[in-house]
Amino acid sequence: QGYYTRRGGVGESGDFITSPEISQVFGELIGIWYISEWMAMGKPNTFQLVELGPGRGTLTDDILRVFNQLASVLSKCDVSVHLVEVSPKLSEIQAMMLTGGKVQPNAEDKSAYMKGVSKTGIPIFWYRDIQDVPPGYSFYLAHEFFDALPIHKFQRTEKGWREVLVDIDPEVPDQLRFVLSPSRTPATQNFIQPEETRDHVEVCPEAGVIVQRLASRIEKDGGAALVADYGHDGTKTDTFRGFRNHKLHNVLRAPGTADLTADVDFSYLRKMAQGRTATLGPIKQREFLKNMGIDLRLQVLLQNSGDTATREQLLHSYDMLMNPEKMGDCFNFFALLPHQRLVHPDKKDKPESKSPLPPVAGFNELLLK
Ligand code: SAH
Repeated sequence: QGYYTRRGGVGESGDFITSPEISQVFGELIGIWYISEWMAMGKPNTFQLVELGPGRGTLTDDILRVFNQLASVLSKCDVSVHLVEVSPKLSEIQAMMLTGGKVQPNAEDKSAYMKGVSKTGIPIFWYRDIQDVPPGYSFYLAHEFFDALPIHKFQRTEKGWREVLVDIDPEVPDQLRFVLSPSRTPATQNFIQPEETRDHVEVCPEAGVIVQRLASRIEKDGGAALVADYGHDGTKTDTFRGFRNHKLHNVLRAPGTADLTADVDFSYLRKMAQGRTATLGPIKQREFLKNMGIDLRLQVLLQNSGDTATREQLLHSYDMLMNPEKMGDCFNFFALLPHQRLVHPDKKDKPESKSPLPPVAGFNELLLK
């Protein structure tokens, strides 16, 4: 039914709320992450910021504000923004947020369907597929993107692996039901790892294909990818669920009207990078944000805000992002980085010949010079 292409309710008035919609600090710290990686990689004179599934555009807007505040640092760097979005409604909301509505349909260039210029003067392009984004040194971002992609579900039975399929419920209108495949399916043969120990497994092959593409691009053209989502490292089983109006919703009822989501299996993403890049994480959101200096940023914002309502809002949103019982523990950060970002290529031969590489912020404490 195409939830994202027809409805796509991100935000307070929609079906689910995300970290960038809760606090500006989230996007600001991610903006700092990119600057810190750009510096660590020797300040290349151009980069593309590529976001997959930008929702309302809030995260990119917060990142671009940081880039603008640090304009003196980035002054010699040519930055462009590339958004991969399938939802016509959300791309309009993004255009409004980022450019104030000043966009043009882009007929002459077949790959980007829309283009515009950000409020801070940075060119922005919209695409439907990561493959359409031009090659080049790129920083990729996927926040609550992979969990939105479709999964296969599998159940171990006495007769071996069976695929959990979705069928029409003949008794109830607008209701689906789960059925088990009577025999093995192509998916059970292709997507279950031989060493699998769980009895129920969810696999998102589309996420695997996208990670393969990101890893190849980073290996070839340089850059990094930051993935943040709720997920696990290959341990969880049945996580498929729906959200409608901020409440859990039966995934089989009224198809197309609720956000469907499944936890991201980071161990699968790591495997799909196929050693083309190094990977870091998953690390818990509260550890990542702490390493990025969220406490200091909160203190500064508290000091600068005069009224009690704003201060309360700041403290409340900090708690939402950091509290282990809210978003602090279940959300994770994961990164793809070129191998040479973590180990000097010639380290084996001449270990002492180069200065040490700076640690990757977020996964370690931020050290901005
Ligand atoms: N990153 C945003 C929104 C997350 S919701 C935030 O954190 O607030 C998921 C986003 O992915 C939406 O923008 C949705 O339209 C987009 N999306 C879903 N499936 C997609 C696909 N196959 N290709 C590109 N974008 C997709």
